[in-house]
Amino acid sequence: MTKSEIIEKLLAGNIACAARFITKIENRDDSVADILKEIFPYTGKAHIIGVTGSPGVGKSSLVYEIIKNFRRVGKDVGIIAVDPTSPFTGGAVLGDRLRMEKNDFDPKIFIRSMATRGKLGGLSAATWEAVNVMDAMGKDVIIVETVGVGQNEVDILEIAHTTLLVLAPGLGDEIQAIKSGIIEIGTIFVVNKCDREGAENTAQDIQHMLSLCPIKSGWIPEVLKTSVLNAEGIAALMEIIEKHRQYLEKEDLCGGNKYTEGQFMALIKEKIAERLINNGGREEIKELVEKIRKREIDPYTAVDLVLSKRKWEKRS
Ligand code: GDP
Repeated sequence: MTKSEIIEKLLAGNIACAARFITKIENRDDSVADILKEIFPYTGKAHIIGVTGSPGVGKSSLVYEIIKNFRRVGKDVGIIAVDPTSPFTGGAVLGDRLRMEKNDFDPKIFIRSMATRGKLGGLSAATWEAVNVMDAMGKDVIIVETVGVGQNEVDILEIAHTTLLVLAPGLGDEIQAIKSGIIEIGTIFVVNKCDREGAENTAQDIQHMLSLCPIKSGWIPEVLKTSVLNAEGIAALMEIIEKHRQYLEKEDLCGGNKYTEGQFMALIKEKIAERLINNGGREEIKELVEKIRKREIDPYTAVDLVLSKRKWEKRS
């Protein structure tokens, strides 16, 4: 397929083409850059929703409910499940579950899992690019589901306009969330599994923590209890998501206006690292690390050395 054919198909929302293209993004294939450049003007329209929380709290179950609700009102939905095959979740892929539960194929739902951890370039750049592909495809809503509360997730949540932090009673998650500072980025705190004992306590703990955090924007984070099991709180969750979308619109924070310096810096860092390694630098880096370990050179001088010697032209 030619470049313009791929672009045409992506812009027309072709799922098969997008799936193949996102695989190339994941593999950090050189050929994607030209296409990403061309589709970029068509992005910046979707509402990006990040969903994060520890394994087992019910993220995938909730996302499934959210998708159903968005479909009911005619929204075109894209879902990116980041690293769903981690050993912690036992490889429960949301896509498989949806396929199991849905008999008919719905072309307005595009689910893609990405397992980019550990590869050069990191998680956030590839995820952001995949989000852009879905955005250019015309998705109204793009849900990015990530596991855990590590730094990668914080990066990914920079992409999202609306962030759902999902917790469950009795898992001690609230303490972890608070420790990692992630509480500051949550727009909606969902205490799922409220059919279980302790949900009210967990919700109160979060409210208490929030009351100690300085509010940095005009949005006061909401705390909400849900039970996917009993179909409780889901309608309220959808209302809050919509309320937040309206807030974003009013504040001119929606669509492409979400793009941050942090995202641009992440791209710059990735490109610099890529070029260093592409130009045969990996061996040199290994050698320098060895020298740093032996204290034959200090890391600051070593960085200067690497940067000063490197050719910055892009490899053709
Ligand atoms: P994830 O790892 O965060 O994506 O969690 P899952 O969505 O895979 O859910 C983990 C387990 O919790 C599954 O067995 C779900 O059926 C169950 N679960 C999800 N939501 C609820 C809920 O509201 N109440 C109860 N009791 N179980 C739930």
